[in-house]
Amino acid sequence: MEGTQHRIAKTLEALRTHILPTSASSADNMLLESIEGTKCSSCREPIRPRELYHSIRLRDTFVLLRFHSLCYQLWVRFDGTVIDRSS
Ligand SMILES: [Zn+2]
Repeated sequence: MEGTQHRIAKTLEALRTHILPTSASSADNMLLESIEGTKCSSCREPIRPRELYHSIRLRDTFVLLRFHSLCYQLWVRFDGTVIDRSS
């Protein structure tokens, strides 16, 4: 699916360039139902109304991140190293 590939690429790019903090800094994690206009913090695409998404608060901050479930799965697995399989 092209949309999925796009989300994965954008999420990995955001992590690699440190636009996104790693999941080690997360505190609260809630699964919420999206309302109109919610945007994913990693791929920057809208989260469809009524779709479930992860709402993460970063430790010692009031920063809230919102993730599609796919983007969240990538985010929690990312430990700062990205294996390049293209070569
Ligand atoms: Zn996303």
